[in-house]
Amino acid sequence: MIQKVRGTRDILPPESRLWAAVEAEARRVFGGFSYEKIRLPVMEPTELFVRGVGEGTDIVTKEMYTFSDRKGRSLTLRPEGTAGVARAFIENGFAQRPQPQRLYYIGPMFRYEKMQRGRYRQFAQIGIELLGAATPEADVEVMTALHLFLAALGFDDLEILLNNLGDPEDRPRFIAGLKRELEPHRHALCVDCRRRWDENPLRILDCKVPTCGELVAATTPIAEVVSPEARAHVEAVEQGLAALGIPVERAPRLVRGLDYYLRTVFEVVSPQLGEGAVICGGGRYDRLIFDLGGPQVPGIGFAIGEDRLIEVLPQSFKDKVLGVRPVVILPLAGEAVSVAFALARDLAASGLQAQVEVTGRSLRAALKWAGKVNARAAVLLGPDELAAGEATVRDLDRGEQERVPLAEVVGRLSGN
Ligand code: ATP
Ligand code: MG
Repeated sequence: MIQKVRGTRDILPPESRLWAAVEAEARRVFGGFSYEKIRLPVMEPTELFVRGVGEGTDIVTKEMYTFSDRKGRSLTLRPEGTAGVARAFIENGFAQRPQPQRLYYIGPMFRYEKMQRGRYRQFAQIGIELLGAATPEADVEVMTALHLFLAALGFDDLEILLNNLGDPEDRPRFIAGLKRELEPHRHALCVDCRRRWDENPLRILDCKVPTCGELVAATTPIAEVVSPEARAHVEAVEQGLAALGIPVERAPRLVRGLDYYLRTVFEVVSPQLGEGAVICGGGRYDRLIFDLGGPQVPGIGFAIGEDRLIEVLPQSFKDKVLGVRPVVILPLAGEAVSVAFALARDLAASGLQAQVEVTGRSLRAALKWAGKVNARAAVLLGPDELAAGEATVRDLDRGEQERVPLAEVVGRLSGN
């Protein structure tokens, strides 16, 4: 038997309904903030991520699905969405459109990672990007949209953590201080962090190994060494969010796994998923488009891990989505088939879920099947009913049934 690739998943019904509902909610909420969908290729030139995400990042050093195509070009399955959005912004001349540009995407990402709970090799992200605005208000906007989206799904226990990474110019000063403070304990750092020491020391802050975390906790937070401008920026973001009643918490050691972030960075964590389980990551990336060869256009955005989001969806949302039950229509005479489909069409058009019995079961077998598919009602169309221009509508929970004029079936079934 051929099996799926390790780290990929089959999203099957009924769980796939949750995915559809979450994505519909994303379209509704982000659409409400005037974000437009951008649909980008799943494969990009490898160089985009090497330059965009950063050479020393975990993603680029060990997680990318990179391959040569038949002409020997190096391609990579996108590990994240922002670099592609930046590429498309440049390539399609979006700097000529009115600024800022508000974009969102939904789709699969690929990273060759060690498998564990909530970590897959193909996973989906829902992300938004606000390009062409450098103000703290822009940060407040994207985080407000994020908060509203999560609230619309019924979340009330998620925490938004925020930090100030300062500007790239602040980085050498911070890194020098960090190394000075960690030097006496350098031997105690994990193998990865000893590699990061030279390649990408900021990543040491991000290490999930407990001993590294303890050492890092004793160091001076990055926000304390950033420029006054960067400090004022992030404080304005915090004030803007506070004015809207959106709770955020300072996380002095928070850094993101991608090199392009500066100033505002944030994460959403779920207490349910435990240590290290981040649902969403985001931040400001004012140099990315320029670094990729485009104009100087600032940006801010986030990416929600849809797989993890769905794992911790509030029960209320799941009940609403999974609680939708079909109505089955049973044509019990040959002539009833076209009436049955006309009725199914009307029920579907009115937003209900209908299915016609199409395998030719007997009434007894059909009612048994209706129970198995968890139908809430069955519409019986026998010769008697047809002759009278009626249907028998049977409530499958109560076991009661009544004859209803055909034209009233939809109204009757929409009523409860
Ligand atoms: P982590 O620290 O968990 O590795 P990350 O910093 O690599 O996350 P980002 O690149 O910021 O994550 O991606 C944003 C979100 O995408 C994450 O918060 C997470 O919810 C989700 N995500 C990232 N990698 C995976 C994965 N391998 N499987 C499932 N979801 C993922
Ligand atoms: Mg990661």
